[in-house]
Amino acid sequence: MKKAVIILSGGLDSTTCMGIAAEAGYSLYPLTFDYGQRHRIELLNAQKVADHYCVGDKLKLITLPFLRDFGGSALTDDQIAVPHMDAPQGNGYTEGKMMLDVNEDIPVTYVPGRNLLFLSIATSYAEAIGAEAIYIGVNALDYSGYPDCRPDFIDKVNEVITLATKVGVQGGSIRIQTPLIHMTKADIIREGLRLEVPYALTTSCYNGGTKACGECDSCVLRLRGFAEADAVDPIIYL
Ligand SMILES: [Zn+2]
Repeated sequence: MKKAVIILSGGLDSTTCMGIAAEAGYSLYPLTFDYGQRHRIELLNAQKVADHYCVGDKLKLITLPFLRDFGGSALTDDQIAVPHMDAPQGNGYTEGKMMLDVNEDIPVTYVPGRNLLFLSIATSYAEAIGAEAIYIGVNALDYSGYPDCRPDFIDKVNEVITLATKVGVQGGSIRIQTPLIHMTKADIIREGLRLEVPYALTTSCYNGGTKACGECDSCVLRLRGFAEADAVDPIIYL
């Protein structure tokens, strides 16, 4: 059976990737990163999602404690506040302005080099186990402005994988699969619901906690996506 490494954060997007890869007939090898993110709930959710797909025993947890030492992101540095958009109002949501880095349109929740690191490690794992695909839930539309979520970035990493690996040099391939990259959050949710993805087990909130805040960038994008998909988000909000 063909194998795929799935970079699984326990969030909505990566969990949807689990469903998409499963439907494509892959044997799933979830890879979860503990990079010093402020909250542990992501890691617990990743395990629950892997259990749901009956691959909980195959989940590999990779610890990257140095990313917290490096800091430089609201997700890893307690000195940098997590921004939030305007709270939901009435039936719709106010188009909130994201808190952006001064001079650069990149949010403070960007983690320096995160996806480059993740994909490097996923490549090593994929080659070692003979996987032909690496699924990552990056998104270029409803994303928050991260440079390492862009299609150009993924294309270049695919080139590097071909150059850098034994399997690539010998004519085989490991391809990064980004099924969500051009989808809106609502499209992602519709596809996930069709695939019966267990969204109740996921969290997207940058603030962690058993209840999502409903106000951070990630919560607002998620809530807007469910509203546009005419669906109800099964997780609990404050
Ligand atoms: Zn939140």
